[in-house]
Amino acid sequence: MPLTEFAGFAVDMDGTFFLGDRLLPGALEFISFLRAKGIPYRFLTNNSSKSSLAYVGKLQGLGLKAEDALIYSSGDACIGYLQQNFPEASVFLLGTPSLQESFKAAGIRLVEDEAQVAVLAFDTTLTYARLTRFCDLLRAGLPYISTHPDINCPVPGGYAPDAGAMMALVRASTGREPDIVLGKPNPEIMRQLAAQIDVDPAQLVMVGDRLYTDIALGQTAGVQTVLVLSGEAKREHLAVSPYQPDLVCEDLSELLEFLRGWGSA
Ligand SMILES: [Mg+2]
Repeated sequence: MPLTEFAGFAVDMDGTFFLGDRLLPGALEFISFLRAKGIPYRFLTNNSSKSSLAYVGKLQGLGLKAEDALIYSSGDACIGYLQQNFPEASVFLLGTPSLQESFKAAGIRLVEDEAQVAVLAFDTTLTYARLTRFCDLLRAGLPYISTHPDINCPVPGGYAPDAGAMMALVRASTGREPDIVLGKPNPEIMRQLAAQIDVDPAQLVMVGDRLYTDIALGQTAGVQTVLVLSGEAKREHLAVSPYQPDLVCEDLSELLEFLRGWGSA
């Protein structure tokens, strides 16, 4: 089914806009097009290893203007979730220093001892001692939140084990699954994003490279979806996936061609 209409875009970053330290084809031109047409968008990422500010810096380094680097991450979704559901709680966060800074800046109390909530994020600075501590907290029965379910993060030359892989390790040790997994494909992150840019979810388009997170949002959040083949998913995965996108493109360059054609049709 082709895209029917689009009033706003949620654009995945890793594997869609860039891969490691290089832009993917059509990336800057795609954002220029949205800007020129006045179509609102956000970069939506499940990657909670970098704070929004760290992503702005990265996008700027790749040539995007700072004012165009509009980020919404699973870390932002987690901050909102904690503020709504555990407003005064002390939190043990398995996360990078930059994510810890963004939690603290939002007023969340991070502790090493006497935590009331345990949060698992994509922690590229993970130590064995803190991983052990985290599993102990889960065995003690603390509420367990994961920022996102992604299993692997694409990097040049391969993949890095992501939060979903850590969830599997934690499950093997403690027998516990997260009480909630925020981020794609949880619809909550899209509802918040749609409200932020004032777009009806049915007219919002998610563009991404992963079937089980980005494209699953078509079913969970009722948005339209575009799969780009520049990251994790390949055509052979698409054939056996329960999640089918509304449109498949090689990369953002091909999507841009489609959108230009759609506009003049
Ligand atoms: Mg991706």
